[in-house]
Amino acid sequence: MIPTCIECSEPLRGRADKKFCDDVCRTAYHNRLNKNSNRLVRIINRRLQQNRRILDMLWNAHPLRRVPAEVLRQNGYDFRYSTHIRNSEPGSQYIFCYDLGLKVTEDGQEFQLLKEAPAPPSGVK
Ligand SMILES: [Zn+2]
Repeated sequence: MIPTCIECSEPLRGRADKKFCDDVCRTAYHNRLNKNSNRLVRIINRRLQQNRRILDMLWNAHPLRRVPAEVLRQNGYDFRYSTHIRNSEPGSQYIFCYDLGLKVTEDGQEFQLLKEAPAPPSGVK
């Protein structure tokens, strides 16, 4: 079987491990890959920022920082997207969107909100 270019499918000549005709095909191929992954990153970033806006709005609207799960859903909070997790008491975790986190309450009906203070810059003691 004659090896062909990954980008344009033309038969390849030269070294056996060649994947592309030339730099034009190589660049076109990698640009397309990057475009797709950049698009996915943009979509995820938008969802995360939307979740953060919702948490911020609820943080300001609920002085006790307890919010029914239904209210989160009604406001469009997407539970699939978060930035990090922190343990609180044993067996319980806050799920964060940037600086704002939520944790399901003991009765499972509400979420407790938590705002994280920014971490000091790395290298600072
Ligand atoms: Zn090619």
